[in-house]
Amino acid sequence: MSDTIFSKIIRREIPADIVYEDDDVLGFRDVNPQAPIHVLFIPKRPMATLNDAEPGDATLLGKLLLACADYARQEGVAEQGYRTVINCNDDGGQTVFHLHVHLLAGRRLAWPPG
Ligand code: IMP
Repeated sequence: MSDTIFSKIIRREIPADIVYEDDDVLGFRDVNPQAPIHVLFIPKRPMATLNDAEPGDATLLGKLLLACADYARQEGVAEQGYRTVINCNDDGGQTVFHLHVHLLAGRRLAWPPG
């Protein structure tokens, strides 16, 4: 896949407000937050969309979600609630083609999404 702005963040070529990191996952604040807490969790090994995930990526996908839940607990919003979102391709609203999970919290979120 081609390089994206998120690969540059992983390589520390552009700044980001990084809130979580382990060997496989990076979490950083969304530059255009849609909620008081809006963090993106990405795999360090890039894949463009969720469509590119294979059975061997199951552990990595699980790690992304567990990182979201851990961070929500850390921020004290786990009990009140939060939302995780993966946008996929055009109709899903994906704009950056490096798989990412949005964690949104800190306000009551409407459903269904637009
Ligand atoms: P998507 O629409 O699901 O692909 O979400 C991409 C997200 O990346 C959007 O919420 C953008 O605000 C966010 N974003 C784009 N560039 C940056 C950046 O440089 N730092 C942090 N977030 C970014």
